[in-house]
Amino acid sequence: MKIIIHGGFFSESDQSQEVKTAKQNSLKNIAQKAFEYLKTNSAFDTAAYAVSLLEDDELYNAGTGSQIQSDGIIRMSAAVMDGETQKLSGVINIQDVKNPVLVAKHLLNEDDRVLGGNGAKNYATAHGFENFSTEIPQRRKEYEEKLQNGGKGTVGCVAMDSNGKLAAATSTGGKGFEIPGRISDSATVAGNYANEFCAVSCTGVGEDIVSNATAAKIVTRVVDGMSLKNAFDKTFEELKKIDGFAGAIAIDKDGTLYHQDSHPTMAFASFDGTDFTVFS
Ligand code: ASP
Repeated sequence: MKIIIHGGFFSESDQSQEVKTAKQNSLKNIAQKAFEYLKTNSAFDTAAYAVSLLEDDELYNAGTGSQIQSDGIIRMSAAVMDGETQKLSGVINIQDVKNPVLVAKHLLNEDDRVLGGNGAKNYATAHGFENFSTEIPQRRKEYEEKLQNGGKGTVGCVAMDSNGKLAAATSTGGKGFEIPGRISDSATVAGNYANEFCAVSCTGVGEDIVSNATAAKIVTRVVDGMSLKNAFDKTFEELKKIDGFAGAIAIDKDGTLYHQDSHPTMAFASFDGTDFTVFS
């Protein structure tokens, strides 16, 4: 059993040592909690669970604490992918739900597995997800400042369960101050991808992640025989050519954990029951 989670990149407003330490402690707690959960649950359920815990922590730009778009509204995106069945389900630009990743998970059993905007919200309401404002005063303050003058922190989890099955989950409040209608990478195969060989969750500038097809490309390379490290190296070299800003976490079928980022400020933690690593 293995687990690796990320808390996105540090934004300019996040650079204080205090916030860094708080994020490190939070990542450590959540990785530990999710690992306990993994002992009796599948990789798929665990990836969604870990991301829901990250969404509930307002330190991150996902769920509670999400960034506000240019029109003053929060729209969130999330996806889960089950490596065994290779099914992805997701929500794009959903408003006013506490845990977008749990709505995404709920959609896995539907024929229509990725829903956007009002459709996603109506589906959530019909399936018992209560109305919930994910706005916090700090994000409103940042938004007001941008309005006057005018960061990041998506979350993700990749897990391998005791049966060797892999899954990935990713959730975001977006880039912040975006044009309403903008689509994030987080609920696409560029930002979140898993099959039986490898599972990947990304963070960074969604447009760069999509242009580089990052998660799907890393997984494809592993399927075709490349080591996880070489697959990351090649994919991040290609990202560099387009001046892309991104980071990713992954586990392959042998249980190898890996992460890389174009700018070394991604916050992440991994845990395999014995060895704990927290970086930021
Ligand atoms: N990838 C997210 C997006 O572009 C942002 C992030 O990772 O912080 O919507």
